[in-house]
Amino acid sequence: MTLSKLETPLSLPESLYEGTLDCVHCGLCLTHCPTYRVTGRETSSPRGRIYMMRGVAEGDLLLDQTVADELHLCLGCRACETACPSGVQYGALLETGRTAAARAGLRPGWRHRIEGFALRHIIPVPRRLRALTTFLGWIQRLRFDHWLAAAWPRGLRAAWNLLPPLPPRADRRPLPRFTPAEGVRRGCVALHEGCLMPEIFGAVNRATVRVLARNGYDVVVPEGQRCCGALLAHAGDLDAARSLARENVAAFTADASIDAVLSNSAGCGAALRETHHWLPDEGEALAKQVRDVCEWLDEVGIREPLGRLSLRVAYDDPCHLVHGQRVAAAPRRLLETVPGLELIRHSDAEACCGAAGTYGLLQPEMSSQVLEAKMQCLAKVEPEVVATGNPGCLLQLRAGAQERHLAFRVLHPIELIDAAHQAHASGPA
Ligand code: SF4
Ligand code: SF4
Repeated sequence: MTLSKLETPLSLPESLYEGTLDCVHCGLCLTHCPTYRVTGRETSSPRGRIYMMRGVAEGDLLLDQTVADELHLCLGCRACETACPSGVQYGALLETGRTAAARAGLRPGWRHRIEGFALRHIIPVPRRLRALTTFLGWIQRLRFDHWLAAAWPRGLRAAWNLLPPLPPRADRRPLPRFTPAEGVRRGCVALHEGCLMPEIFGAVNRATVRVLARNGYDVVVPEGQRCCGALLAHAGDLDAARSLARENVAAFTADASIDAVLSNSAGCGAALRETHHWLPDEGEALAKQVRDVCEWLDEVGIREPLGRLSLRVAYDDPCHLVHGQRVAAAPRRLLETVPGLELIRHSDAEACCGAAGTYGLLQPEMSSQVLEAKMQCLAKVEPEVVATGNPGCLLQLRAGAQERHLAFRVLHPIELIDAAHQAHASGPA
């Protein structure tokens, strides 16, 4: 690494620069870091990356391609934050470091160009994303996908292989803006529906609304809500992420009768919960209201009775739920309320699966090595279902299971709760 005086200063806000000083170099985070585990390199560890960011901020280290590459090899899983006894806010440091690298023009190559275009111009614009999903769905149905994917470079092929069969347009219809509570009303919640969720996991969104309504909550899906901006921030485009966050603040804080803003996507929930990091003045009100849907149901208490589901289920923690939002026990407790459901443990449930947003496109080799470790842990316990609450993880684990011919299904925990409600409604088997 070039240890020369800084030519491209890394503009870290004072508080974040001070955040790099919180690292006491103890190394307790190292064995929790997937990229360090694979490479064994200090520069690919949290401690190494923090040291580099600090060096750049102090002017002792050049912000060059080597530094940028190590920041981009990071999965952003934030396992290091959970492990860190000094409370280093690594996620915020990483976003700022990547933004500085992007501004310095250190994101070259076709993969970053495709990612940047998709993140700015397609994913946050629902009508464009819908048109793209429809087009890709036709490619799948006409079975052009196999020969097309064979001709693509590895990163694109890996991203393509993650795609499940895309639902027809009718199954991607928008959620109703208002769904009334069933039975005795307990309150009103707002749902952040996400950008990819309605297109790929519309069934999960509809199950979420059904479960909340059955549990006594009016569900509003505010108009004007936008993509959470997490992927943009992780890619180093904090300005674009901030402008989406502003629209979400306006959409979700207008109605004072809302008890909570819920997300069923760990990545979105973590970003919404940290809106005040991006918008210190105006983001606090939204940040305080955000809950993960499983966390919320655990908090208010699930309305029983639930029907029986005789299934062996392994719960796998999405990084941005367990490390980003510190929610680990709630989804497990929720699943344990289902009669007949056997919750089984697997080693390293809190380790990243290698999905990490667009990581599979940008770092296909590392992504598949991290996934392999996860698949080995899951295969050992032979679950019938793996439950996880994040779209990227759902896609990655499904693709991993399919590639290895593992028999388990991968579902969102809310789909299991919804199935248990339906099992009760349809009576004893
Ligand atoms: S966020 Fe994950 S991959 Fe990145 S340094 Fe921390 S533990 Fe390692
Ligand atoms: S655990 Fe925290 S203080 Fe220790 S090296 Fe890692 S980031 Fe630094």
